Amino acid sequence: MDKQAFRLALGRRNFVKMLMAGTATGVTGCIATPTDETKKIIIIGAGLAGLSAAYELEKAGHRVVVLEAQERAGGRVHTVRDPFDGDLYAELGAVRVADVHFHVLRYIEEFDLPIIEFGSGDPVYFLKGQRFMHTQDSPWPLELTEAEQEKGLGMWSDYIAAYFPDIGDPLAGNWPPSSALKYDDMTMAEYLASKGASDDFLRLYKTDNGTEVDSYAALAWMAAEVVDQDWGTTYAIVGGNDALPRAFANSLGGAIEYGAEAVRIDHDGLGVTVTFVQNGEEREVDGDYLVLAIPFPIVNEIDIVPPFADDKMEVIEELKMSPVTRVWVQTATKFWQAEGIGGLKVAKTDTGVETLWDVSSVQAGERGLLMAYMQDQNALNMAMHPEDMRGSVALNEMSAFFPDINNHAEATYQYAWQENPYARGAWAAMRPGMTAKLAPIVARPEGRVHFAGEHTSVWIGWMQGALDSGIRVADEINQDIATRSASAE
Ligand SMILES: Cc1cc2nc3c(=O)[nH]c(=O)nc-3n(C[C@H](O)[C@H](O)[C@H](O)COP(=O)(O)OP(=O)(O)OC[C@H]3O[C@@H](n4cnc5c(N)ncnc54)[C@H](O)[C@@H]3O)c2cc1C
Repeated sequence: MDKQAFRLALGRRNFVKMLMAGTATGVTGCIATPTDETKKIIIIGAGLAGLSAAYELEKAGHRVVVLEAQERAGGRVHTVRDPFDGDLYAELGAVRVADVHFHVLRYIEEFDLPIIEFGSGDPVYFLKGQRFMHTQDSPWPLELTEAEQEKGLGMWSDYIAAYFPDIGDPLAGNWPPSSALKYDDMTMAEYLASKGASDDFLRLYKTDNGTEVDSYAALAWMAAEVVDQDWGTTYAIVGGNDALPRAFANSLGGAIEYGAEAVRIDHDGLGVTVTFVQNGEEREVDGDYLVLAIPFPIVNEIDIVPPFADDKMEVIEELKMSPVTRVWVQTATKFWQAEGIGGLKVAKTDTGVETLWDVSSVQAGERGLLMAYMQDQNALNMAMHPEDMRGSVALNEMSAFFPDINNHAEATYQYAWQENPYARGAWAAMRPGMTAKLAPIVARPEGRVHFAGEHTSVWIGWMQGALDSGIRVADEINQDIATRSASAE
């Protein structure tokens, strides 16, 4: 999800201050308390959720074994360097570190990773066939209400923030409150329309937040708005965001089994056994606890013996992943700057390529790297083309608003997350009617099996959510050990 620009009006905060505020909140995310009893804990998935769980559990004195299906750690934090010239690289998944994402910033600090702020500037718009740049004094060439004309995307305060009291505190144990339930059965687009947003405002809003606005559940979206409402500045890790999972993986040493795909889980009141396939051979590992830190569509294909509770199995089957396709265009120069275009989102359009991000502002060198970020139906439409055609299809679309793009382009690269067998999409696809139902079930442990992953957190679709869930399961397991040990005395 992508909701940054709306918040810029809210003012910037020093990220160290936010970091301290975040760690002081006492929300899910207190660091796991060390325990005297050493246990063996199996973790399926070496994304940020599994890695942070393993890191905190190891710190608390336990032995961890992490099973990772791929040959690298990081999951949806994946930096690709090879296809590009010079020092350019593409983030296939996570690009931005928000200054309010205190878990991400804390680990960045703990691993001593340098960060860099994204550049600022104004985008070019291409809406309803019109190409324009918007300044404070010029009217939007759109059919907006009077207030929308005046405030543009600053209508965030009226359409979104004004309703935060209804949403309540998504980090509170009994969320959502009854005042929030009226937003559970609608999409974010329906919600905005219900608050008086015009069709053209929705068009503008989607250029800033992605077309998933049309399908994503309003209640889950609003929960994310509440927890990230003070977002001001956006960072990247210098040299690529994969430095974060690599730092976790290095600290875990030999605890990670790569190329190890979990296919069966046996569990009872005493422990767990996971069957996994590695180098074509089936192997088993036993443990006292299991952390399942993989997306639900993959859990749905694993044999679980005995099955979890009916409501959990239902949610595992129901919760799908959102499609996202991206196309990168390497350019000889950052040609858009000559026109005074800048910032992270340099072109905001209602075309099939949606929004173009300048991801090169945090990278070294003269070359440019534009990333077309397509969600939902646009993502699926682009992915209907064969992989080797997607670059030229995207360039063709871009030429509507960057007519010279073909002269600037040196190379293209593409990636469709829904085609990744170990992710199945970009993030949990919260749909209307799911938020209140999932809230008490999604992260609930099933005996000795605990659940992590961005989908089990309020910060769905963020590294912060993955880390928050990893810290939470470590805490849950330590508490369970302490409770069992106390009752045995
Ligand atoms: C397109 C896109 C844009 C994003 N943008 C941002 C952003 O700007 N900022 C931000 O903070 N976040 C962003 N995110 C979200 C962020 O990347 C994720 O929320 C986070 O990385 C998820 O971590 P995870 O550990 O929950 O899951 P994953 O990273 O998916 O980790 C799961 C791991 O489990 C492994 N696995 C799967 N099946 C098995 C199996 N059967 N056996 C063993 N291992 C298995 C996978 O290989 C993977 O390594 C974005 C994500 C995407 C895809």
